[in-house]
Amino acid sequence: METTLGLGSIRLILVCGDITEQETEAIVNAANPGLMGGGGVDGAIHRKGGPDILNECKIIRKRYPDGLPAGQAVITTGGALKAKKVIHTVGPVWHGGNDKEPQLLADAYKNSLKVAIENGIKTISFPSISTGAYGYPVEKASVVALNAVIGFLEKFDGIEEVRFILHSSHDLAIYEWALTGIIRKAG
Ligand code: ADP
Repeated sequence: METTLGLGSIRLILVCGDITEQETEAIVNAANPGLMGGGGVDGAIHRKGGPDILNECKIIRKRYPDGLPAGQAVITTGGALKAKKVIHTVGPVWHGGNDKEPQLLADAYKNSLKVAIENGIKTISFPSISTGAYGYPVEKASVVALNAVIGFLEKFDGIEEVRFILHSSHDLAIYEWALTGIIRKAG
């Protein structure tokens, strides 16, 4: 099951699945500041993509000795993945909502899309950033994520397809609920 929303000629797709299996030109990694792999999406991407991704991450880390700050994004090869590129972004850790979490989460999505456009990438898949180990409630994160992506796509050209790959039917239902609310407000 999937939901598709047309935004002019851009397709926004919500679907349940595994981000490491996506065939978009880029997939986004919910990384941590160290960029050295970890659990969740990060672990799955490095396991399936192989060592080339980590090697490029190590080089990038030299530019960020204290780690990649939350909200920023960088790009590496996709290694052995179907996607040619991986865009690594760091979402905020949930501290209750008064620690700039919504702004940092929106930045993670927007800066990932910016890096995609700078690299000529037209199709991209996102996981639900921050809603796993980082503890961001998915009901809140879904609204921030979709508003950030839709707002960005309304402003900047170059992206043709954005896929949100939700890891459970529960998360998919929440993202569908969030999208319905956003469409209703816009109408
Ligand atoms: P964060 O540290 O940013 O919270 P996580 O990787 O812990 O990132 O989790 C983010 C979301 O990604 C969670 O909803 C988790 O269930 C989901 N997830 C885990 N593995 C995959 C995968 N292979 N494909 C898509 N989503 C995944």
